[in-house]
Amino acid sequence: MAGQKMLKFVTLHKEMPQKRSADLRAQDFDEIYREFAAEKAAEQASRCSQCGVPYCQSHCPLHNNIPDWLRLTAEGRLEEAYDLSQATNTFPEICGRICPQDRLCEGNCVIENSGHGTVTIGSVEKYLTDKAWEMGWVKSIKPRNERTESVGIIGAGPGGLAAADVLRRAGVQVTVYDRYDRAGGLLTYGIPGFKLEKPVVMQRIEQLELGGVQFVLNCKVGEDLSFDAIRGQHDAILIATGVYKARDIEAPGVGAKGVVRALDYLTASNRKSFGDEVPEFDSGELNATGKRVVVIGGGDTAMDCVRTAIRQGAVSVKCLYRRDKANMPGSQREVQNAEEEGVDFVWLSAPKGFTGGEVVDGVMVQKMRLGAPDASGRQSPEVIEGADYIEPADLVVQALGFEPEAVPSLWGVPDLAVTRWGTIKADFRSHATNLDGVYAAGDIVRGASLVVWAIRDGREAADSILTYLAQPASVAAE
Ligand SMILES: Cc1cc2nc3c(=O)[nH]c(=O)nc-3n(C[C@H](O)[C@H](O)[C@H](O)COP(=O)(O)OP(=O)(O)OC[C@H]3O[C@@H](n4cnc5c(N)ncnc54)[C@H](O)[C@@H]3O)c2cc1C
Ligand code: SF4
Repeated sequence: MAGQKMLKFVTLHKEMPQKRSADLRAQDFDEIYREFAAEKAAEQASRCSQCGVPYCQSHCPLHNNIPDWLRLTAEGRLEEAYDLSQATNTFPEICGRICPQDRLCEGNCVIENSGHGTVTIGSVEKYLTDKAWEMGWVKSIKPRNERTESVGIIGAGPGGLAAADVLRRAGVQVTVYDRYDRAGGLLTYGIPGFKLEKPVVMQRIEQLELGGVQFVLNCKVGEDLSFDAIRGQHDAILIATGVYKARDIEAPGVGAKGVVRALDYLTASNRKSFGDEVPEFDSGELNATGKRVVVIGGGDTAMDCVRTAIRQGAVSVKCLYRRDKANMPGSQREVQNAEEEGVDFVWLSAPKGFTGGEVVDGVMVQKMRLGAPDASGRQSPEVIEGADYIEPADLVVQALGFEPEAVPSLWGVPDLAVTRWGTIKADFRSHATNLDGVYAAGDIVRGASLVVWAIRDGREAADSILTYLAQPASVAAE
């Protein structure tokens, strides 16, 4: 029986690239994959050559001790392996699922670079932590001593939550404020469930709640509560509000019904998966079912949109990007996934306008070629005159990236220093802003980045806050 199942697993494994879009097969695959996850993890872990120059570790933003936990996994010492992996990472099961490993740890694996295919580090990390949850090895938050100092964290994304975890384990009183009704930031409402299952995020939030972290949700700082009021209630503040101002296309017809923003589209889909009432989804406004969908953009958000549209049952899904495949900003692995699922990439193409009047029925596409490199060394796209055409579309999703909101003016704190890009200016190591006792971490400092960087920033900022709180009051106020 076991032999038969293994044969089925091997067959499915081989067939999957062509069959991923078939839901039934994917379910079969997941079921069988789960059953053989332990074998796969051990097999992958034992492929690590223990090369002695762990580029994987140095290219992981958290400097996870990858070779050591791979060795322990290969030896079957799973609890120890998990313990080591969680020592540097607050949410290893989340990173294992959604880090762009091809650009980080796995992209720098010496086995990969010698042409033998990377050790699948991310999937071993995911396996170890899923196993740890199942076996009860995940340590709950139980501070040895309660402290009187309190910290207010604005933003319940991975940056804010990683900081909350460190601070609460140290016994500090922690309150996290967020404008949404659920914590998790983009883990909850941005990243689609097929990449990051929502119960995986919710169990971490529950762990923080059980550990004594207070969440104040549906609270938009700057509107429902002023920044000064929050600052007055706590001994230190961490701002971890992410970047949310969508870059919109400037072209005729962009205001037509059916031209939507990526995050609105993805949030509606994620809310639906929580079982929420989502009138814009039910009305079809933010739902790709039965539609010809065009997504504009070449980053990971665009990949999430095209893959969501495929899952919603779009008639066709095209992705327009103004450069070529080699110059896409998104992860090549994500592009490959999207291609395998049936997304049609239209390279060297940019929107010139939208047709249809009040309700969009097409995108006016202008064809591009790559010209001379710009100051950054990247080839600039140039328009090919006379090659325009109309791409029919019922739903157009703009996925051109995000910028920071104007925090100082929105929150009435003009003294809070920002960079020329509008991100909050914070010390590279301590994450301290120019305001006493106010720290900042994650995308609001880096600009749109990655979950793993937000986790690192949150952990580091929490350590700095602990040092700040330990200082005598007179020093801290200087
Ligand atoms: C669609 C999409 C897909 C992505 N996929 C990946 C991926 O696969 N892998 C990866 O590593 N990264 C991915 N990223 C990037 C990643 O999600 C972010 O880098 C990361 O979430 C940043 O964490 P953060 O804590 O800084 O901010 P966020 O996760 O954005 O959290 C910020 C929180 O602050 C809250 N907030 C903002 N303003 C206020 C206010 N005024 N008052 C109260 N609360 C406020 C928000 O509601 C939010 O909950 C993706 C991003 C997007 C948009
Ligand atoms: S956190 Fe991300 S980069 Fe680091 S080992 Fe895990 S998957 Fe790789």
